[in-house]
Amino acid sequence: MYLVDTHTHIYGSEFDLDRPEVIKRALENGVGVMLLPNVDASTVAPMLKTRDQYPDCCRVMMGLQPEEVREDYRQVLDQMEKELERGIYIGVGEVGLDFYWDTRFEKQQLDAFETQLEWAKQLRLPLSIHARNAFAQMAKILERKQDGGLCGVMHCFTGSEEEAKVYLNFGFHLGLGGVTTYKNCSVKDFLPNLPLDRIVLETDAPYLAPVPHRGKRNEPAFLVDTAKRIAEMLDITIEQVAEVTTENAKTLFKL
Ligand SMILES: [Zn+2]
Repeated sequence: MYLVDTHTHIYGSEFDLDRPEVIKRALENGVGVMLLPNVDASTVAPMLKTRDQYPDCCRVMMGLQPEEVREDYRQVLDQMEKELERGIYIGVGEVGLDFYWDTRFEKQQLDAFETQLEWAKQLRLPLSIHARNAFAQMAKILERKQDGGLCGVMHCFTGSEEEAKVYLNFGFHLGLGGVTTYKNCSVKDFLPNLPLDRIVLETDAPYLAPVPHRGKRNEPAFLVDTAKRIAEMLDITIEQVAEVTTENAKTLFKL
């Protein structure tokens, strides 16, 4: 079995004490490639260091995460745009809108997101998109910006069937992670109605560990538990889930 973790922050300090073991467990569990989305200016160096240490299994993306957008976001974006010119990034991420805790920087978040959508278009890179408490604004921007030049993953998708269909219609994939294994997750009710060829798997480690690890630090090896749960929901084998989602990730991110 071969899985791709399309969104994982294993470069974070949560893994500083045991990163080699975490990577080893990922590989032992069939997670052969890990895609590392950036968060803010401070995460670029640790992310690149992790990629340099594990070049065979780690790929990197560049972007400013919406919760980290502040007054100085223009300067941060300028640096990131230069960084992208190096050509080592397989995607633009993570980017998006998040109005869950904080709406102080709503205008700045919208502007930062639009700027980064333009990068993705110009560089023909897929996106890893974070959207929380922001469906209406997200749908509006994607509708306006989608001219056939945008693709990517709605990372950690946990919305309704209608929302899933809107994103699918805009040409995006849905990233399913640990939340899919939680009892109260609505996705299980309509997952069989979604096209499997538009689903990719992710952990969002160290956050949102799947059952039976819920509440603990998440890590890429736990992707197996999410794949298993999805297989149960779809009444297919875990190997089938792995095969299709890996193919989807490889095609989308040109792995
Ligand atoms: Zn993330």
